[in-house]
Amino acid sequence: MTSCIFCKIANGDLPSEKVYEDEHVFAFMDITPVTKGHLLVIPKNHYENVYDLPADEASHLFSVVPKLAQALKETFQQEGMKGLNVLQNNGAEAGQSVFHFHMHLIPRYDKQEDGFQPGWEPQIETLTHDKIAAFAERVRQLTETK
Ligand code: AMP
Ligand code: ZN
Repeated sequence: MTSCIFCKIANGDLPSEKVYEDEHVFAFMDITPVTKGHLLVIPKNHYENVYDLPADEASHLFSVVPKLAQALKETFQQEGMKGLNVLQNNGAEAGQSVFHFHMHLIPRYDKQEDGFQPGWEPQIETLTHDKIAAFAERVRQLTETK
């Protein structure tokens, strides 16, 4: 879909901090992360939401989630990562703002370390683009070993 930003990211027509790519799936850092390491996993083909997603695409997509989760854990556990949300919104009323199916992987941290709160607000001031790019590099390296 030519007007879709996630199609453009998956095609390489828009820049992103890529973490993983294969024939069907593309994973990249969220541009306004809720926590350190917040990333998105998308099918390369355009589907608006879970109602449109064919089972084989769902299967391809979820097959990479465990290794991305593992890479996030190995990257950030020394910095206080304690949990991980795998989240997916369908429809504006459910909080969907980009209408190309995507899953959020959101590391959760010990509140005492780094001052991260367990909320859903983007940490725009703390998590600058330079930091996001550096996180992507670390997660990408570990994902390649999985
Ligand atoms: P949702 O609210 O579930 O539709 O989530 C959409 C997510 O896409 C939000 O967390 C945005 O920060 C993220 N986002 C929007 N544009 C970009 C972009 N160009 N690169 C990376 N993430 C983006
Ligand atoms: Zn799209």
